[in-house]
Formats: sequence, structure tokens, C-alpha cells
Amino acid sequence: MTKSMYELAKELFPICRSLTGEGNRQTLRILQREIPELNIHEVPSGTDVFDWTIPAEWNIEDAYVENEAGVRVIDFKKTNLSVVGYSYPMDEWMELDELKKIVFTLEEQPDVIPYVTSYYNPRSGFCMSYNELNKLPQGRYHAVIKSKFIEDGSLTYGDVIIPGETEDEIFFSTYICHPSMCNDQLSGPVMLAALIEYIRGLKHRHYTYRITFAPETIGAIAYLSENLQHMKAHVKAGYNVACVGDDRTYTYLASRYGNTLADKLAVNVLKFHYPGFKSCDFMKRGSDERQYCAPGVDIPLASIARSKFHDYPEYHTSADNLDCISQKGLEGALDVYKQIVDAMEYNWYYQVTTICEPRLGKRGLYPTVSKKGVYDEIQSMINLIAYADGTNDLIDISNIIDVPIKELIPIVEKLEENGLIKRTSTNI
Ligand code: ZN
Repeated sequence: MTKSMYELAKELFPICRSLTGEGNRQTLRILQREIPELNIHEVPSGTDVFDWTIPAEWNIEDAYVENEAGVRVIDFKKTNLSVVGYSYPMDEWMELDELKKIVFTLEEQPDVIPYVTSYYNPRSGFCMSYNELNKLPQGRYHAVIKSKFIEDGSLTYGDVIIPGETEDEIFFSTYICHPSMCNDQLSGPVMLAALIEYIRGLKHRHYTYRITFAPETIGAIAYLSENLQHMKAHVKAGYNVACVGDDRTYTYLASRYGNTLADKLAVNVLKFHYPGFKSCDFMKRGSDERQYCAPGVDIPLASIARSKFHDYPEYHTSADNLDCISQKGLEGALDVYKQIVDAMEYNWYYQVTTICEPRLGKRGLYPTVSKKGVYDEIQSMINLIAYADGTNDLIDISNIIDVPIKELIPIVEKLEENGLIKRTSTNI
């Protein structure tokens, strides 16, 4: 990457993204600079995708409310959160009471601007902090929204395919439809850009990796309408990547029944990485897991977040800004997702090749000196061998012997080099 995840988020922050429009294309073009494999696709407005239809493309140039002296009291140019997403154009003078009917505030958090959209109901509206709205004096106000709907426009999404030695896939999904917000928006794409760089650099890839950057809901539905059969046949584990940029906690969000390989691995990695992680069932869903885990789709997909949507005070407000995320927070999530990738690459069923315990000493695997760290590794090796009976995959073994997969991988490599364990024919 040409810059850090945090610096990339800073570059993407001012862009006005939505379900469709130039802001999404601009976002994807910047991501493409960092991810040369990124393909940008357009789905024409009016296309039917399962039970939905791709909407007209929405673009916005400016929006403001000015007082009689021509001073802007609401200004899209200062923050794009100040207009309701997908607002219709308007140009009207009105009294304060009328203005208040089209301005959304959040009384419980009176100093922040709420994030509001009206995708499928025609509306024109503004957003403002409760305190700022209540400071406005009586008088006449000029409300202007310079937006445009393009009936023959399109919805834009990006995807990346990094081939491995099989067609079996690991899938990561994130969204690009929120305007200037960070944990719930930019953290996903920038963390995945760094993860893609990591995947690209792997010396050996068993799996093919599929990564999508699409507007939430309608974008995921459009993607599935084009790729469902292939994904159903090939995706072995997937993760929806949302809210991975703050540094307060980690959250696991289960698939519909919480019983997929993606769930099993997420719980395993998190319990070693951050034992106090929050665990949520599918009733707490809110992002594209809603589509990928829907009946009839059933992609094996879970989510690992830092502070999950709905669960942190800055969520869907102007306070979810560049102060809400940090390079350290993003790196924590990246570390977890790298562990997921590494674990998947080594997650086979293993079978020991000797009858009774193998003699490690004659192969140079047993230390001649006794030292604490070395002893732990030997203990893990012996325990791994004890459960490498062909009925456990590496996640099972990690759970049984209580050692993180990242510590088992070098042991697996050593044992394989020495012919002491083999991958059985049973893949995942
Ligand atoms: Zn959101």
C-alpha cells in the first residue's frame, strides 16, 4: 500500500458515498490504486435483482440552508452528513417552524449530527445537531438541495479475485455506501486493502480469495444475483467486514445458525486473541450477513468486528469520525483476519504416521536442553500428535489442546517435513 490504513481512511473520508453515484466510483478508484486487482462493475438502474430493483443513480453537488443574511446554517460542503441520503432536489424559502419539519436531529446525543437516509421513499431533508437547531432564531430560511437522479445510471461495486490452487474460496465482503464515517464505513475497506496485500504475498495459496466492496443490502443482493450458484458451490468460509477500526473491544457475530466453519474459526481465533470478546447471535445482525446468510443463500459467513454497529455511542453520527478509529485499532483487526487466513490455509484433518508415539529425538525435534519456551513447544507438538488421529481438523486440535493455531502452524510444518503427520484425504 502507498499509505497506512489510517491515512487511506483519511483520504476517503470526505467523499459522499451512497447506494449509487460518483462518490462510490471515486472511492473504488482510490482503492484500485492500492489494490490493482480490483475490478469495478456497473449494474444498470432498473435491473431486477431477486426481489429488488437497482434504483436510479443519485448524485449531489451541494446542499445548504441559509438565513436571510445569506449565512449558511447547514452546509453540505462542511459535512456531507448534513443532508439526508438520496434527498430530492429542492429550492424553497420557509419559516423556522417549517424548516424544523425537514431537519433530523438526535435529542439523546444533542451535539452530534445523525446519519439519515431515505433510499426508497421520496424525501428531501437535512440533518443537524439538536443543540445547533435549537439555537436558530425565528426568521425565514432558504433550503437548497442540488441533487440529481439519473434514471439510466447504475450501481457501482468492486470485487477482487486472487486465485489459489483450487476453486474453493474464502470470501470477504465489505460495503462502500456510507458518507463521512469511519468505524462504520472506512475501516472495512482500508483493512481489507491491507489484508489483500497480505494474501497476495502468501508463498502458497490453497484457496482462491474473493473480496467484494459493494453498497450494503442492494449491492450485496446484486452481487449474489450474479454469483450465487458459484459462491454456494465454492465458498468454504466467509466474513462480512464491518466496524473494524476502533480499539475498544472485539465482537463475533454468528451466522444464522452459528454452525459454519467460519463461526468455528472466528471463535477459536478470538478466544486466544482477546478472551473478553463479545459474542452475538444472528438476531444482532445488521450488515450484509443479512443477505449472505439468508435462507436459500446460506453462504458459511460470520463477522468479526471491533465495536460492532449499534454497539458504540458514535455509531451512525458525525462522531464516528477520524478520531473514532486509529491505526492501532485497524492493525488489531488486521492481525485477527491474517490469523483467519493462515488458519484456513492449514486447516486440514491430520493423521499421525507412526504407531505409538513417534521418537522425536532421532529426528532432531526434541531439544537437548530444557528451557521454558522450548518445553511449551514440545508439549504442543506432543499434544498435537496425540489428537492427529484423522478425526480432528486443526481448529479442533487447537481447541482440545488449548494452543492458538498461529503457534501450531510452525509445528505442523516441522511434523510434515519429517513425515510424522499427513493431511488425510478429507478436506474441509
Ligand atoms: Zn451503517
